[in-house]
Amino acid sequence: MKALVKQQAEPGLWLMDVPEPRTGPGDVLIKVLRTGICGTDLHIRSWDGWARKAVTTPRVLGHEFVGEVVSVGDAVRDVAVGDLVSGEGHLVCGSCRNCLAGRRHLCRGTVGLGVGRDGAFAEYVALPATNVWVHRAEVDLDVAAIFDPFGNAVHTALSFPLVGEDVLITGAGPIGIMAAAVARHAGARNVVITDVSPYRLELARKAGATLALDVSGTDIAEAQRLLGLKEGFDIGLEMSGRPEAMRDMVANMTHGGRIAMLGLPAEEFAVDWSRIVTSMITIKGVYGREMFETWYAMTVLLEGGLDLTPVITGSYGYADFDAAFDEAATARSGKIILDWTV
Ligand SMILES: [Zn+2]
Ligand SMILES: [Zn+2]
Repeated sequence: MKALVKQQAEPGLWLMDVPEPRTGPGDVLIKVLRTGICGTDLHIRSWDGWARKAVTTPRVLGHEFVGEVVSVGDAVRDVAVGDLVSGEGHLVCGSCRNCLAGRRHLCRGTVGLGVGRDGAFAEYVALPATNVWVHRAEVDLDVAAIFDPFGNAVHTALSFPLVGEDVLITGAGPIGIMAAAVARHAGARNVVITDVSPYRLELARKAGATLALDVSGTDIAEAQRLLGLKEGFDIGLEMSGRPEAMRDMVANMTHGGRIAMLGLPAEEFAVDWSRIVTSMITIKGVYGREMFETWYAMTVLLEGGLDLTPVITGSYGYADFDAAFDEAATARSGKIILDWTV
């Protein structure tokens, strides 16, 4: 089968013929229809410091996908041939304290699809049935292909109650934009999103942000002035991993404000801890999706009319992966889809 492979420990990706994945009794074999390109894949392609530590070659990339089940192992009960499915990209150990307690998203031994094991940028991908989400309601295939990052957005946005709250999102990448749409849908009063890319700020407006603020020339206090806020933001969703964003967020939170942090900083940085203490701010780290509460929430949010299509800005056949990755790496793109059926 064709697959996008990190074949050599150097920058680049290789479209190659590789053997179809092998499956065990608890596994499902899926014919991949469409995939989403993630920041993780861009890191692996460019072979930066994180990728060199996290990935051994050769490795088939990709964790965001939708596909159709073509075979199931003897022990699989709840997934059937012909089901339209996406996959939870974190494979958990099943035996640590958190796994045993049903808190699988907190597993200490998580392995990432397309990072620590072969992934979904291929004609076929194999997954344990316990990592498969069956789309039982009708869903747009491009949207189904990005359930994994959509889940990051939902998990982060719904970390704290949002009804009537003023929400600040720093970072208008695809997940930040989806989080803005979720926050509005879930009943937030104001949803402010910040970035330095006018293109992405415009996508965020389309997705429902109350105010999309370019912080290249101003700061978050300006958003408070524009909206007439007096006491700061109630909820912060940090999606950029950037020190200046986190510092400016902390400076603009209300007393008792709550921050969910998904953006992954590249290195340590200082924040005003005295402000966090005296403003009594709660900070929660978010990684991945709750299995499978977040997936349930994603499905019902879409059924309830949440529209993610503004965040999808490009689609390529898999053979044009280089052009697709180049576009995904610019700030003039949202989510880019690879089609594996053309
Ligand atoms: Zn991803
Ligand atoms: Zn575990």
